Amino acid sequence: MNLNYTPEEEQFRHHVRAWLNEHLPRDWQQLARAQSKRMDEWMAFLKRWQRQLYEAGLAGISWPKQYGGRGATMIEQLILIEEMARAQAPNMLNISIGIELVGPAIMHHGTEAQKQRYLPKILSAEEIWSQGFSEPAAGSDLASLQTRALVKDDSFVVNGQKVWMSWAEYSDYCILLVRTDPTAPKHKGISFLLVDMRSPGITIRPTKQITGEAEFSEVFFDDVVVPRENLVGGLNQGWNVAMTVLAHERGTSAIGYQVRLRTELDGLIRLTKQFERNGRPASQDPLLRQKLAQAYSEVEILKHNIYRAVTQIMRTGKPGPESSIIKLFWSEMDRRQKEIGMEMLGLYSQLVHESKGAIDDGWWPHAFLWSRAGTIYAGSSEIQRNIIAERVLGMPKG
Ligand SMILES: Cc1cc2nc3c(=O)[nH]c(=O)nc-3n(C[C@H](O)[C@H](O)[C@H](O)COP(=O)(O)OP(=O)(O)OC[C@H]3O[C@@H](n4cnc5c(N)ncnc54)[C@H](O)[C@@H]3O)c2cc1C
Repeated sequence: MNLNYTPEEEQFRHHVRAWLNEHLPRDWQQLARAQSKRMDEWMAFLKRWQRQLYEAGLAGISWPKQYGGRGATMIEQLILIEEMARAQAPNMLNISIGIELVGPAIMHHGTEAQKQRYLPKILSAEEIWSQGFSEPAAGSDLASLQTRALVKDDSFVVNGQKVWMSWAEYSDYCILLVRTDPTAPKHKGISFLLVDMRSPGITIRPTKQITGEAEFSEVFFDDVVVPRENLVGGLNQGWNVAMTVLAHERGTSAIGYQVRLRTELDGLIRLTKQFERNGRPASQDPLLRQKLAQAYSEVEILKHNIYRAVTQIMRTGKPGPESSIIKLFWSEMDRRQKEIGMEMLGLYSQLVHESKGAIDDGWWPHAFLWSRAGTIYAGSSEIQRNIIAERVLGMPKG
């Protein structure tokens, strides 16, 4: 990738920066911190925010124009994500599943009717999506999934259970992996469905997390009828579609992290200058300084690896093996960074949102707890290490 931007790209950066300056809601972070108590308000806010971005032509900008995108390049997408992260703007509600996972799946494997029906509404946040892949005994070993779908007339009848479905309660549709041929080898008997979350027979049970929020749920399917036209990629061909989803989940979604992690690190460095430990600013502690310097280098490494991954996508149209390295690296460094914050705050790290005396309104303990999730979702660290060893380095299976 050429690290010098063209005049048009620079102009686009100015346009995004100016738009964000004018439209970024001032008090959104307060609402974000209170989300465990005001989830409905938070979701409504995020929906409005995405709608605003869509109307300004800033949602899913690399998607083709006929499906509501801007037909922009990956570099422009990179610029937009960087600027949003730099302005500390809230993410779009439909980004992590609708735009980053469902969109590419339908774009690569869907029919024209499916593209026209679903894609624009993903961008405008008119329809919110969730992802029904994991099951109680099928997370890392996804192909072991047991949720069944029987073909009946012009429909599928679905029975089974999914777990960890992020935003299930607030979603209008989900992408669902189901077993349609139990006699076939496990990768070959799976189909990929688009399911209306308001269908009769769906029960959603939210799961409370360690942070106090309940962003994901267990979802039960009892004789849920899904029209045949909601099948993506052909009967028993769902594994191919799932692989497209997983490649995107580990690949493009990390683009903004380097700026977010850098902004958070800058915040931590500022804090160490103000926060006193043993009668002097924490920033004078040599051990802490060393850890901060290491964290700084890691953000730079992440940034250049992300640029490398973007170049790969521009050349080949799909994420390459860099995605697994990036996923492993950002999720582990996120944990290290938040651990430094907790260590620096000492006893103050126990004070959470709305506690008297909480530093940064309890942001650090919250971020620390959340950082544990990054090394699990979208493929755990152990699984990424296996993929890197076997598929990237060509080492023998253990
Ligand atoms: C915040 C969050 C949001 C999520 N959102 C969604 C969602 O929206 N939709 C969805 O479908 N899923 C979602 N998930 C589920 C996630 O994809 C799974 O948790 C993940 O794939 C791991 O699967 P598992 O939990 O079944 O763990 P397991 O597969 O049971 O693994 C348990 C442990 O064993 C290790 N392990 C497993 N197999 C191997 C192996 N072969 N070699 C070495 N180590 C191994 C794992 O790395 C892990 O440490 C979410 C998870 C989290 C934490």
